[in-house]
Formats: sequence, structure tokens, C-alpha cells
Amino acid sequence: MSREQDRRRLVDQFYRKHGPCCAGCDWWRFHNSVVGECTRSAPVSGGDRIAMLGMEGCSLPDRAGHILTPRDHLCGEFIDTHDWEAKQ
Ligand code: SF4
Repeated sequence: MSREQDRRRLVDQFYRKHGPCCAGCDWWRFHNSVVGECTRSAPVSGGDRIAMLGMEGCSLPDRAGHILTPRDHLCGEFIDTHDWEAKQ
């Protein structure tokens, strides 16, 4: 299993256990097993990108991009159209 597949497995596992959250949202693109970016809205500046993670600084390059969210976050734009039964 590749690292990418392993991350996907951990994210899916978390979503199944936790219920509706970024980890299972169609808009979310995971970076690792706990943090990903929400592509629902337009990109923001580098500093604003990490604001929802509760961090004041991080080792990632300070580039503009989609907002980073923790996997357990949930907002009103959540949507899951994935066919989980077919994936079993
Ligand atoms: S739940 Fe909200 S914040 Fe999280 S990925 Fe979906 S749209 Fe974005």
C-alpha cells in the first residue's frame, strides 16, 4: 500500500467512525491523515490559509491556496456524494 493509499484509508476510517466532517466531504483534499484543504471557496492568502488550524505559524511554504481545515471540522456546505457501499 502506498503512503497516499494509507492516508486515504486513515481519512476514510476516521469519517466512518466520526460522521459528517471535512474528512468525508466532497470538497476536501487531504494533505495528510489529519489536515486537508477545502476547495469549496476561492483561495486565500498564505496567512489566512492556516487560520482554522489554530496555528500562528507552520513549516509549510507561506503560499496562497485553499483554506486548510482539520479533518473533524464541519460546516453547512458539507456534501458527500460518494458511493460508500460500492467501496466496501
Ligand atoms: S465540511 Fe465545509 S469546510 Fe469542510 S471540506 Fe466540506 S465544505 Fe469545506
